[in-house]
Amino acid sequence: REKDLLQAKKLASVGTLVSGVAHELNNPLNNISLTAEMLVDEWKDLSVEEREEMLSDIIEEARRASTVVKNLLDFSRSKLKDADESLDIQEVVKSSLKLVRNQLMISNIQLITEFKKDIPKIKGNYDNLKQVFINLFLNAIQAMPEGGYLKISTKETELNGKRYVEVAVEDSGVGMPPDVLDRIFDPFFSTKPVGKGTGLGLSIVYGIVKKHGGKIRVETEKNKGTTFFVYFPCEEDA
Ligand code: ADP
Repeated sequence: REKDLLQAKKLASVGTLVSGVAHELNNPLNNISLTAEMLVDEWKDLSVEEREEMLSDIIEEARRASTVVKNLLDFSRSKLKDADESLDIQEVVKSSLKLVRNQLMISNIQLITEFKKDIPKIKGNYDNLKQVFINLFLNAIQAMPEGGYLKISTKETELNGKRYVEVAVEDSGVGMPPDVLDRIFDPFFSTKPVGKGTGLGLSIVYGIVKKHGGKIRVETEKNKGTTFFVYFPCEEDA
C-alpha cells in the first residue's frame, strides 16, 4: 500500500518545537530529581553499591539533558542563508553523495544515479542544499541496516503550471507506518534509539526546502522502502 503525503499544509511550528523540547528535557530532569530524593530519604538504608548506582543514573540523565540542549542550540544556529546562488542541483547532489560514499560501502548499499544531461538551474544556497541531501541520504542509510539500494534521480517537472526540478531519493529500507509518516517533519520526532537520532534532520530539511520555495512529498511502504521527492522552482520561474 502506498502512502502519499503532500507536505504543503504541514508546518514545523514553534509549538511543536517547544513541546518537543519540553518533553525531551522533562524525562531526564524528572529522573534526576526522583533519584536524588530517594538518595536523600533512604541514604542510611542504602548500600554503597546502591548509592553509586543511583549517582551514576543521575550523571547519565544529566548528560542526556545536556545533549538535548546542545542539539537544540545546533538547530537554532543552523541559520538559513539566502537562496541566491544560481545552481545546478545535480552538482549539489553529487558533492553530498561524496560525503556518504563510505557509509554506503560499509552498509552494503548499492548506489544508483539517474542524472539528466540538461537540467535547469535553480536559485539556492549551496551549503544549505547540501545539508538537505546529506540528511536524506543518512536517513536512507539508517533505514537499510541489512543493505539495499539508494537511488537518486532528477528530472524537470511541472506542478500547478510552474516548472520545478525534482530530485527523488529512493531507498529499499524499512519504510514507515502511517503514524510515523504523519510526524516525520516534527522537530524532535525520532524513532531511533537515544543517541542515534535527534529528530531534527527532517525539520531542517523542511525549513531549507521551504526557504527555497520548494516542496516535499514522501512515498513509503513498510518493509519495501521510502522515496523523498524534493522540488525546487526552476530559476527562470522562481
Ligand atoms: P532522526 O533521523 O534523527 O530520527 P529525522 O527528522 O531525520 O530524525 O527523521 C525522523 C524520523 O523519520 C526517523 O526517526 C524515522 O523514523 C523516519 N524516517 C526518516 N527517513 C526515513 C527513511 N528513509 N526510511 C524510514 N524512516 C525514515
